[in-house]
Amino acid sequence: VSAGASATFAGTNEVAIPHSRSLVVIDAAHGGEERGAALTGTLAEKDVALQLARRLRTELENRGVPIFMLRDNDATIPLDQRAMAVNTAHPAIYIAVHAGTLGRGVRLYTAMLSPANAASAFVPWETAQAGYLEQSRRVAGGIMQELGKTQLDFPIAMMPAPVRPLNNITGAALAIELSPSGRDPESVNNAAYQQKVATALAAAIATARTEAAR
Ligand SMILES: [Zn+2]
Repeated sequence: VSAGASATFAGTNEVAIPHSRSLVVIDAAHGGEERGAALTGTLAEKDVALQLARRLRTELENRGVPIFMLRDNDATIPLDQRAMAVNTAHPAIYIAVHAGTLGRGVRLYTAMLSPANAASAFVPWETAQAGYLEQSRRVAGGIMQELGKTQLDFPIAMMPAPVRPLNNITGAALAIELSPSGRDPESVNNAAYQQKVATALAAAIATARTEAAR
């Protein structure tokens, strides 16, 4: 079941960015010439990020959440351009999707900034997220709380991290990083593992989004 409001930004500049208070923007990190981390000798982070982003989109759409994908192909999109597209869309939640080989399971990141007043007339680009940090942490905490209610066979952790472009987003902004399920770094490329992560995250995000909109 498609929510009907889903769209893609990369490659098609004509696509209108949907406006909706319930919109979730999914940003498959890296792409094109920017390969991200080398997960194995042949596996690039940009490809795993896109795989997981697509699974997350499907799972969220199945729960009636309208999705906007910043890229749905192998496009190179500069970070500033990503942030500007997100800030134009004013989504309920922005989620950047990364993959790495450090540690195990899934990490949920919020920006590494000091909270500030959102009411300031002049918002510096580099710290635009500061006024929304409490909101981001609330959403991340809600997702963690929801995930805590389910039996997961992979660890989940939440922490601040200097992940760009979180600092430039003027709204609830998170990044997730998929790490191996066990010792094998190839497991980030495992369809069943990715699907398990996407399903758990989508259920938690859908609930946390409803809470955040209240
Ligand atoms: Zn990355």
